Amino acid sequence: MQARKENNVQGIDVSRYQGKIDWLQVKADKREFVFIKATEGQTYTDPNFTTNVKGALSAGLLVGTYHFLRATSAEVAKAEAVHYAKSLEEIGGAKALQLPPVMDYENNPSGISKAQINIVAKAFLTELERLTGVKPIIYTGNSFAGNFDDGLSGYDLWIARYSNTRVPDDQPAWKNWTIWQYSDAGKVPGITGNVDLNEFNGSLSDLKARYGKEKEMSNPFEGYRLTSPYGMRKHPVSGINKFHRGVDLVVTPADGPIYAFVAGEVIHAKMGVSGSGFGNYGIVVAIKDDKGYLHVYAHLSAAGVKVGQQVKRGQLIGKQGSTGISSGAHLHYEVRKACTPQFGYTATEAGVVEPTQYLNNYYGQTPVKEDKPVSQRDINVVSPWAEAAWAEVTANGYYDGTRPGAMITREESGIVTNRLRKNILKLIAGINGNVSDLDDRLKKIEAEEK
Ligand SMILES: [Zn+2]
Repeated sequence: MQARKENNVQGIDVSRYQGKIDWLQVKADKREFVFIKATEGQTYTDPNFTTNVKGALSAGLLVGTYHFLRATSAEVAKAEAVHYAKSLEEIGGAKALQLPPVMDYENNPSGISKAQINIVAKAFLTELERLTGVKPIIYTGNSFAGNFDDGLSGYDLWIARYSNTRVPDDQPAWKNWTIWQYSDAGKVPGITGNVDLNEFNGSLSDLKARYGKEKEMSNPFEGYRLTSPYGMRKHPVSGINKFHRGVDLVVTPADGPIYAFVAGEVIHAKMGVSGSGFGNYGIVVAIKDDKGYLHVYAHLSAAGVKVGQQVKRGQLIGKQGSTGISSGAHLHYEVRKACTPQFGYTATEAGVVEPTQYLNNYYGQTPVKEDKPVSQRDINVVSPWAEAAWAEVTANGYYDGTRPGAMITREESGIVTNRLRKNILKLIAGINGNVSDLDDRLKKIEAEEK
């Protein structure tokens, strides 16, 4: 097959093993595309799947996903395609991403025949395309690729061969690679540990053109510098890990013009007051679109529109500033799901959508897929933002480490409180006195507080 080329666009692929990723650093390192692990077999979903997709999209990477195939029959292969397609719906469907879905078929632990490998592969690919409306590509290793017959040459090949010098071998189905995974030990800023490195056979615009999504997924924030993406982050002022409800964008000069990303009706255009849903947001212009979503432009130095006014997409609505709680001149832009009460303010992720994806869906006129409600989360998986505290509280024995996302009952919370109370008494008694004296005194205090 062909060798690597100097101007080929560079990318990576990731799964939960890369942990928390700083996508802005990845993008700054000129990694323009990423394939993100979505699913495996008939039930497994990578716990970092949706977080990774949102982070990578926010930072402006081209995003694709992959499924690790385990099937040994056509029937199970189809069931795996159903599981993968369902998981893709959580992030707006395969069509919401710029790069195609991937069948990762790379081993044969149960030793099925070559003919059966091809039956399984074709069943999965056909079903996946039927369900998602997007033609998938095939990921495999240099030697496993020899199993695939020329009935699969119509699918693009993403091949693994970890070498700088030895090109992938010609195969019955392919004489060229579309993407080459040339290292599994890459170092990329923003990622802890090793990461797989990939190269697409062409430039960035060739890559966009090949999968035909350039129009649908244009960067809605062209002309802005994205300084903080949507999602969990360390707050620039408080230093505390907190959910960032929108994106931070910067234009020069500091009081540069801000234009509407969508058309709609202005429902707020002044300093946000505490309790209104815009407290600490400074001067806010809020525009309600035709779907009822509220577009919030915060920290402005001046508003250029009036309440009740209809604005068009691209219309000047105000000037960038640093009003409210802000660490410097920037535009905080967020998209809320509702306008009332209090202008749709909800402290959690449940009240907002990822802005880049929302705008792309909106421009493309595809339906907006909402985030999964919290009640549908996998209670056995700890949330990324709670990982450190959960590890501590389980290590010190207050919780047993199981079901981190489950509701807590009265008796469970009672047990934890009681253990904490006893340990604190022991701690104090260790310095000055005995536990039963302290317990009596604490009981008196508790009786007074009832
Ligand atoms: Zn912000």
